[in-house]
Amino acid sequence: MTCDQIPKLASSYIGRDLSAVIRLKFAFHLVQCKSCRAYMRGFLKARDLAVQSLQMPAPDALMQALGLHEDDQKVRG
Ligand SMILES: [Zn+2]
Repeated sequence: MTCDQIPKLASSYIGRDLSAVIRLKFAFHLVQCKSCRAYMRGFLKARDLAVQSLQMPAPDALMQALGLHEDDQKVRG
């Protein structure tokens, strides 16, 4: 796992869409890499702010882009 992969995988990591091996590599990189930890903090904060600012139900495409899933409302697969 390299630093340039972290932004590409961030929303999948949060959305638990990554395989166990990739998740482990991602988490391991965060442990080792201060700048990617800072990136993930900012990523999560931006996501939380976006969620809080939504007054209406978000479109599916937006929920996916934010790494969120409406598992309690929809059955996946
Ligand atoms: Zn890094």
